Amino acid sequence: MALIKADFQFIKQQLNREPRGILEVSTRCKTSHPQVIKTKPIFDKEIFPTLYYLVCSNMIDKVSKLEAQSYIKELQEKIDSNQDFKDRFLVAQENYKRERNALIKNPSQLNKSQKEALKSGIGGVAKLDKVKCLHCHLAHYLTTGFNVVGEEVAKIVGTTC
Ligand SMILES: [Zn+2]
Repeated sequence: MALIKADFQFIKQQLNREPRGILEVSTRCKTSHPQVIKTKPIFDKEIFPTLYYLVCSNMIDKVSKLEAQSYIKELQEKIDSNQDFKDRFLVAQENYKRERNALIKNPSQLNKSQKEALKSGIGGVAKLDKVKCLHCHLAHYLTTGFNVVGEEVAKIVGTTC
């Protein structure tokens, strides 16, 4: 989806900083403002392991409330106790990594710590069976339709503000 000037202003306002490395608006809320953006995983030679950012502040707030209610722990317990859920979660993690890392041109030229950063999963986790940031998982689910953790979050906060 193309990025128009109004989107850039909206994102800047929501993030409270100058957005960097935006590739596209991945999804929009019903009222058409940007909901999820996709950003470059490498910028000024620095690796940013997060590919999809939730930028709708209404949805960000709702997810933050869930996090404050120990919902990360609850979903982690589901992963740890339900093999099918875990398997599907790991597929989402691998999809995310593959998509992100494919955007890196000349990966062989990266230094050791940069290469290490590219092994991380959603939210920058080193262990792929761990949940860290529900905003990141929801953003991935809203964009791709496949992320069991993001899907659980969407069941509560919805898919638009
Ligand atoms: Zn919204």
